[in-house]
Amino acid sequence: MSGTTTTSYGLALAPGGLFLAQELANTGLPLAREPDPLQDLEAAGAWLQGAFTEWSHRTGQPAPDASLTARDVPKLRVLRVLVREWLTTGEPASPSTSTLHVSLGPGRGVSYGPTSSGVAALLSLIAVEALLARRSQTLERLKVCANRGCGAVFYDESRNASRRWHDVKVCGNAVNLRASRARRAAQASTGEHTVPGDR
Ligand SMILES: [Zn+2]
Repeated sequence: MSGTTTTSYGLALAPGGLFLAQELANTGLPLAREPDPLQDLEAAGAWLQGAFTEWSHRTGQPAPDASLTARDVPKLRVLRVLVREWLTTGEPASPSTSTLHVSLGPGRGVSYGPTSSGVAALLSLIAVEALLARRSQTLERLKVCANRGCGAVFYDESRNASRRWHDVKVCGNAVNLRASRARRAAQASTGEHTVPGDR
């Protein structure tokens, strides 16, 4: 998928179909230089088509129908909030269900895909790809930047999966600086001395 929102932040896409949740959550963040693709029907339709095409390319399954109506665009934005919430706190913003077909395919393959189109299809795929990613232990590497107010979703490829920021220079340093200023201010008000190297 060329020119995804995720890659425009300098971030790698999560492996396999897991990228769908990441890419949806990464649209329309303060970090974005491009307008939010979920702001209108035309842009949202193009975004969903691109996401389904990439999913099809990655999984070898046929791309679902990406057609949307004007009423679907707010639903897509609601799904984005739900997915962000789920990735950040583990809590879904509201109950949601999805439907899939799964069947035994040729060459001992398994074919799967949504039974619906548009926003419902996207939810189905995000859910099943999360299930597959949990089994392959890649889901825990999909993380939300620890800088509140950033919200970028990154795939942590570090050996011990210890990354906290989407970019340590952009978000890690800013947060550490704020914290150390706050500590210094607190120490000054209580008359404590600053310990060199205390972080
Ligand atoms: Zn960040």
